[in-house]
Amino acid sequence: MKVLFATSEAHPLAKTGGLADVSGALPAALRDLGVDARVLMPGYPAALEKADDLTRILRIRLPEHGEIGLLQGRFPGDGAPVYFIEHAGYYARKGLYQDAAAHDWPDNAMRFGLLSQFAAWLAGPGSPLDFKPDVLHCNDWQTGLAPAYLRYEAARPTPTVFTVHNLAYQGIFPPDVLKKLGLPPESFSIDGVEYYGNISFLKAGLYYASRLTTVSPSYAGEIQTEAFGMGLHGLLAARSQELTGILNGIDLREWDPAHDPHLPAPYSADKLDALQDELGLGPDAHAPLLGMVSRLTQQKGSDVVVEAVPQLIELGAQFAVLGSGEIELENAWSRLAAAHPGRIAVKIGYDEGLAHRIEAGADIFLMPSRFEPCGLNQMYSQRYGTPPVVHRVGGLADTVTHASPENLASGAATGFVIDRLDRASLVDAVHRAMLLYRHPRVWKKLMRSAMARDFGWAGRAQQYLDVYEKICP
Ligand code: ADP
Repeated sequence: MKVLFATSEAHPLAKTGGLADVSGALPAALRDLGVDARVLMPGYPAALEKADDLTRILRIRLPEHGEIGLLQGRFPGDGAPVYFIEHAGYYARKGLYQDAAAHDWPDNAMRFGLLSQFAAWLAGPGSPLDFKPDVLHCNDWQTGLAPAYLRYEAARPTPTVFTVHNLAYQGIFPPDVLKKLGLPPESFSIDGVEYYGNISFLKAGLYYASRLTTVSPSYAGEIQTEAFGMGLHGLLAARSQELTGILNGIDLREWDPAHDPHLPAPYSADKLDALQDELGLGPDAHAPLLGMVSRLTQQKGSDVVVEAVPQLIELGAQFAVLGSGEIELENAWSRLAAAHPGRIAVKIGYDEGLAHRIEAGADIFLMPSRFEPCGLNQMYSQRYGTPPVVHRVGGLADTVTHASPENLASGAATGFVIDRLDRASLVDAVHRAMLLYRHPRVWKKLMRSAMARDFGWAGRAQQYLDVYEKICP
């Protein structure tokens, strides 16, 4: 089985979120199963710098895009082979999708149209490579046009899988880009790329791909409903027989509490005071430290956490928060940190090492997302013995077992799950967690159950292989 895995980001080469973690880990896990999986992604200069064994395979000029190169390399270490599309005008910028002020780059349709076009070309019958994929695996809107290109350009299109990592990002552009991207006018139809008068790259993927997957079983069901379907629930429900929810795994080497170079000392079940020191939090042995690592967006529910802060501080909590995103939320957190020095530490920005130290060093992790396709941080936190408080949606519902009295007694509990996302429910749940935290015997059992969960990729990669096999002739 040969698979070309097209993505706009892949850890450790380029990352803004969970898509990168999956793109870094899943191809490697597939290779462990004997699949020849190779990645295709934009050649961001920082990514090229990190890749091993880089060689240029070809150069080509396309009228609408200009000069383009194709490079081949490897993920650092023993990673999967990766092809990079080299285009200085498109990819040599700070910010994968947005500028520093969080505005989308105005030419994103062309930047990711090119990625989609290359994915279809390299996976299709006209590919210049020796590598002939049996399946093209596309991910999120940035690669959504690839199945459309294949459908219109090949008599017998290579089968495609399209994975939705987040339905909220849809890649919507005005209809005039269709011509520039070289798609035929008939594709601009309700049975095609058209979406309320515009073009949606995401919808193209959902419409044209042979099979659809999303990153947790619960999210696969939710997105077929009006409440979570973001206007695409009709199409998703119509394709429900071809839609599978496969939970993401986590990279067990990258997130290994026993061997984590980001932690100050070998990690054990005893929590680290070092985090409090690093963040300038007051030394208070009794204060439970609440951790958050997240994009600061409405999706992640951090606005509800902001509302809950006064009560949680009153109850004796400390906070360690790392994130960046919407300016209002960044400001709200910065104001809270200024108002509660020594109790609330906030770092606005992206910091991988600190993310590891918060997962490890916090006592309770907060992740009350409004919707959550899968979510990785709640899995990292469990593996690091930091029980999470989550909202019962999507992958959070699928990966955290609520600390009900029965689940605590049986040893199944791994965290705290709220059924409604509002300030009162969140405060209740965190308060209960803080009370249990004061019972070392109960708390250690909870931590141990969380740490014992198997969140590895091996079983999940097999589920993707099952999907590939269904569509291969
Ligand atoms: P999403 O993909 O929706 O942002 P996930 O929980 O699936 O959420 O994945 C987020 C990934 O990005 C995790 O690996 C997390 O550790 C990382 N991350 C998010 N924000 C930051 C940040 N400010 N600094 C470091 N890592 C971050």
